[in-house]
Amino acid sequence: MKITEVQAILADIPTRRPHAMSFGTLTLQNFVIVRMRTNAGLTGLGEAAITGGPTWHEESAETVKAVIDRYLTPVVLGQDPFRVEHLLRAMDGAAKGNHFAKAALEFACFDLVGQALRVPVSTLLGGTVRDRIAYSWSLATGDADQEIAEAKALADRGSTLFKVKVGARPAAEDIGRLERIAAALPPPIKLRADANQGWDEPTTLRMLPRLAEIGLDLLEQPVARWNLAAMARITAASRLPIMADESVSTIQECLEAARRHIAHVWSLKMTKVGGLVRAKQAAAIAEAAGIPCYVGNMIETGIGTAAYAHFCASTPVVTQGCELFGPLLLADDLTREGIRYEDGHVLVPDGAGLGVTLDESKVERYARRG
Ligand code: MN
Repeated sequence: MKITEVQAILADIPTRRPHAMSFGTLTLQNFVIVRMRTNAGLTGLGEAAITGGPTWHEESAETVKAVIDRYLTPVVLGQDPFRVEHLLRAMDGAAKGNHFAKAALEFACFDLVGQALRVPVSTLLGGTVRDRIAYSWSLATGDADQEIAEAKALADRGSTLFKVKVGARPAAEDIGRLERIAAALPPPIKLRADANQGWDEPTTLRMLPRLAEIGLDLLEQPVARWNLAAMARITAASRLPIMADESVSTIQECLEAARRHIAHVWSLKMTKVGGLVRAKQAAAIAEAAGIPCYVGNMIETGIGTAAYAHFCASTPVVTQGCELFGPLLLADDLTREGIRYEDGHVLVPDGAGLGVTLDESKVERYARRG
């Protein structure tokens, strides 16, 4: 099989409600959807979504499209999508970094291989250890009353994991909001908080005893991605588990995070780290270091969510649940099948490849023009 055409399509889909994080408020999510055609008549799909674009990380939907069109497509055209490791090497040779762009193409290769062999991508990744994953819903309106109502409606349908986005307002306000939410949502509900690098070390150290009293399940990425020394000191000082997200964005950072014990738990994201193969390598480092993992999201449509779900299904160290709520927060999806949810869990697609196909009328509707 040979790759004969790669299309990178920019698309924008509104969210059902504004989604407020420490680095900005999201109302319209941007994507690059990859359509990879072959001489075998098969079409593979990929996706890169970056919540907040360059306000969160170095890449954005626009850079992803530019890098795919100009630098990555030329090195994958004419190549066999079965040779994933070879293609990752070739893409690394053509462009440094740019993990989201590479991941979108790698997802499409895995989709093609799965379709060709008539097996789900989870089978290619080692086979399933679970067929459903508990997902966490993010409370991110900043309005505690609204967040409590939103969480209760989901809890009634079986959800037990919630993450409160903090760091957009003064920490004392976040504590008050967390106290109210925790009082309204007692165990067995697990409440987590994600500061998305929004705090500094002194603020975090001051907040830790209060957060532990509230009964928070864990605190995610309190300080800047680069501040590993502070992450390590916070982790050493904390009674509640600390999770790293932005600080574990490359496999090299994962190794350093394990060595310096910067967190008790890692949030893995398949696009952040450069694809499914790289995410497996990150998971191997975590497993060797005794670090349980969670799988975050970037608010993907059904395409990216399917790729993430196949990873969760096939990776034992992912014991802390996932965050694959993208299709629930977005006002619409781009796939015909959609992603199925049941009792607070996301179900892993069981069709060949990623197990989802594009709804062309939706692509037509949401593709960016001009
Ligand atoms: Mn995070």
